[in-house]
Amino acid sequence: MWSTICGVVIFVIVLKIVINEINRRARKKFDSLSPDEQAIELQKQYEAKQHYLYGSINEKLVCQHCQVQGKIRVKRVVISNESLTGNIVKVKTVHKADATQMHCENCRVTWNV
Ligand SMILES: [Zn+2]
Repeated sequence: MWSTICGVVIFVIVLKIVINEINRRARKKFDSLSPDEQAIELQKQYEAKQHYLYGSINEKLVCQHCQVQGKIRVKRVVISNESLTGNIVKVKTVHKADATQMHCENCRVTWNV
């Protein structure tokens, strides 16, 4: 019992040390860049995050909220609507459906179609 707890505690401590070292090296590498290179790196990180969250930009689409073209990110998503049916025995049903998530980089609105 105690050996398991000690093992978990040591694992967490080692994991924290490794993560701190990775962050320290990334910070050191970033600090060694010129201001221009830092700006490019930050832009790359922002683009990667936006791409992961909202997909890639479709240049042709016009935002239905702000009417700006070329700022809409499109991503296929699965949405689920959970509902409870039945009076005596509650049966949980989940309806899943494919949808297209749209996100406007200009007005920051996200919606599904
Ligand atoms: Zn918009």
